[in-house]
Amino acid sequence: MVDPKEYLKFGQQFHGHKCPAMPLGLRVGAAAMNKLGVERAKDSQLVAILELGDNHCATCFADGVQVITGCTLGKGNVQKLHYGKWGVTLVEAKTGRAVRVAPIGEVQAQTKKTDFFINYRMKGIPASEVPDEVVEPLIDEVMNAPDDKLLTISEVFHYDLPAQASSHLRRVHLRRVRRHGCGGLRPSHGRQEGLPGLLQQGPRGRQDLKIKIIPHC
Ligand SMILES: [Zn+2]
Repeated sequence: MVDPKEYLKFGQQFHGHKCPAMPLGLRVGAAAMNKLGVERAKDSQLVAILELGDNHCATCFADGVQVITGCTLGKGNVQKLHYGKWGVTLVEAKTGRAVRVAPIGEVQAQTKKTDFFINYRMKGIPASEVPDEVVEPLIDEVMNAPDDKLLTISEVFHYDLPAQASSHLRRVHLRRVRRHGCGGLRPSHGRQEGLPGLLQQGPRGRQDLKIKIIPHC
């Protein structure tokens, strides 16, 4: 079983400040992993599909998911759908077993009614400048609430990752590189490979925002 409390300190260091949304991402990620019975992805064993967009809270939430699942921007096994929702679908790459987890509606609504949000964040005060006595009780609430008071957790279902994603996950695919003008290396330009049915377009309908799923090496 994955214990999200074991990742709180690391998550806060990675994220940069204390807030309730990053820990909520830890809880969501842990619940998904425990439902699937999987460990943190050392490579690309898991794929996390985030439904959120780019607002502040959602961004914090995504960092918690990355920290606990090991699905990271660097490894390319996390993607955002820009639906503006906090749901996360976690997929075990080799089997396609998947689960969707989201904070319950009331929890999402409560985040907008807190002192932290109304008297600090809404007034433009950076989260890093919010006093500990304001934010830490919120973090404690998130970290200690029972799953059924905090989250909706789906049954396990099958999720078809696109063929190119699963084949990439079975082997290390080194892309051709070429010399950059400064003497460094950069990936060669190639066709963007997205996830059919998932990321057909970004927030502004831009096809070039598709995310490529290949293993890091
Ligand atoms: Zn945050």
